[in-house]
Amino acid sequence: MQEPTSKGELLNIVSPIDGSIVHSLPTAAEHDVEEAVNVAKAAQKIWLGITPEQRSVILWKLGTLVEQNADELAKLDVSCTGKVFRDSLNDSRRGARHARYWAGMADKIYGQQLADVPGRLSYSKRDPLGVYAVVLPWNAPAHAFMARSMPAIACGNAVIVKPSELSPLSAIVLAKLCQEAGMPSGLVQVLVGDGRVGTALCGHAGVAGISFTGSPGTGRKVLAAAAPTFKKVTLELGGKSPIVVFPDADLDSAVRAAVMGIAYNAGQICAASSRLIVHESIADAFISELAQRIERVKVGDPYDKTTHVGPIVCRRQFDAVQNHIRRGIDEGARLITGGGRPRGLEDSPGLYVAPTLLDTGDQVLSITRSEIFGPVLAAMRFSTESEAIELANDTEYGLAAYVWTSDAGRLIRMTDAIDAGVVMGNSPLVMDSGLPFGGFKGSGLGGAFGSDAVEGCTRTKRVTIRTAADPLPAQWENI
Ligand code: NAD
Repeated sequence: MQEPTSKGELLNIVSPIDGSIVHSLPTAAEHDVEEAVNVAKAAQKIWLGITPEQRSVILWKLGTLVEQNADELAKLDVSCTGKVFRDSLNDSRRGARHARYWAGMADKIYGQQLADVPGRLSYSKRDPLGVYAVVLPWNAPAHAFMARSMPAIACGNAVIVKPSELSPLSAIVLAKLCQEAGMPSGLVQVLVGDGRVGTALCGHAGVAGISFTGSPGTGRKVLAAAAPTFKKVTLELGGKSPIVVFPDADLDSAVRAAVMGIAYNAGQICAASSRLIVHESIADAFISELAQRIERVKVGDPYDKTTHVGPIVCRRQFDAVQNHIRRGIDEGARLITGGGRPRGLEDSPGLYVAPTLLDTGDQVLSITRSEIFGPVLAAMRFSTESEAIELANDTEYGLAAYVWTSDAGRLIRMTDAIDAGVVMGNSPLVMDSGLPFGGFKGSGLGGAFGSDAVEGCTRTKRVTIRTAADPLPAQWENI
């Protein structure tokens, strides 16, 4: 791994598995942001100077390199985040898929022929924005780098990535691979550091667009930093996604999906299904079965092939998760399972939390409203379809929702009524480069992946050319 050359403060990367310092590296200083923007501007000119087909070939090669280096990338991510190796490896491979998808798109960034006004030919072009900032969270570092950067690069932008200060290592390797694949030096750069570097980058006048993924609070700050120079901003924020289970659903699959939806990556996923909304006629049996399955989730060593879930990413987040659980219980929720460290790991230096199920007794509590970003599931009951919709939408967020029913009509009514950017019917979350992913309400602005991503990192230029020898408007003829 080639380290950044900056001489800013030293950043220690702490392992959530054992508390050791896995790496120390310098952070970017303010002048590094300035320099990165200048270098990016020059690199973008070179990038636009080659044909879209050549750009496509380079992106495809990057996909191959990412695939070949998936193991190393995954190990770096595990060392920073504690995400289980199998899932981190999958993240890296999905990163390669993003490079390949956008390789296919690089020569298909089209405009349109526009309204047919007599004597005028009008068409639109999709131009890149220029220098594009990508600010990332820590929960799937290599994947997020690829998912957010590849569309911008395919569309002709230069990219400056600010990974999370908790997990910057794979980003440094990925930027190197971009160059190895044939991208001009400086087309993809990484600035290591915390929110201060993010602020400097998002506020820089030379940055024309931003893709921010992170918490709503930081998202607001990013929007504010972007406002003075009217940057185009895409925000991928948090969630409090419901899983709604009707009595006619395939309950065995629904219960497994509910376990996976809250336990995967220790609940540290934006689209985690953290609110169970289950029909009252099956609620007790469903919750009891769910608790038994949750207790079978193996928490521990991310490299052990039998482990489902690793630790929480850092001490601050670990404490926040514990506080949410305590507060939920203080407010009247009943602890069904979990609630602390997993059995056998009570004295581990690792930041492990047992997947936790709380029965809210159908009250609106902080745990039914706040994003916890941990393995904590709040259960609620409903009696009618309209009540299920009301509960599902009773949140400031609108990222994802999961509906389980075998009634096709009901499924369609529910997907229509739920206010979320992604609604899954009888399925856990599925993601792909070509499937839009973005939040409604407090979950974001704009979208990643597919055509939404093109919209986020390009601007439309309308061109109209006079094709007829018609005179100018009569009142201007004699001047
Ligand atoms: P965060 O908001 O604390 O940090 C995200 C990034 O923003 C980090 O790189 C951080 O250094 C940077 N940052 C902090 N202050 C900044 C500022 N003022 N200006 C610019 N950048 C700044 O989020 P996190 O704790 O790293 O990640 C967890 C959050 O991310 C959760 O809310 C989760 O739901 C969300 N998330 C959303 C998606 C999605 O696709 N919608 C995906 C993953 C995570």
